[in-house]
Amino acid sequence: MTRRAARTVSCPQCARPALYAPENQWRPFCSERCRLIDLGHWANESYRVPAESGPVDPASLAAPETDMLSSEG
Ligand SMILES: [Zn+2]
Repeated sequence: MTRRAARTVSCPQCARPALYAPENQWRPFCSERCRLIDLGHWANESYRVPAESGPVDPASLAAPETDMLSSEG
């Protein structure tokens, strides 16, 4: 008994039917493009968040990178 109905969902970006299966690596989006657009939105949001909250210490932002480098040697 093979009951493999192709499962689709509405793409969150363009609202078109998107294949919701492992073969669609962009799921739940319909395509790479829609996925990138969505990610872009998130990136923009995070850029807007700062300010007003208070002073941001540049050192705390640089710390993680320095830590990774120093663990090498
Ligand atoms: Zn889409």
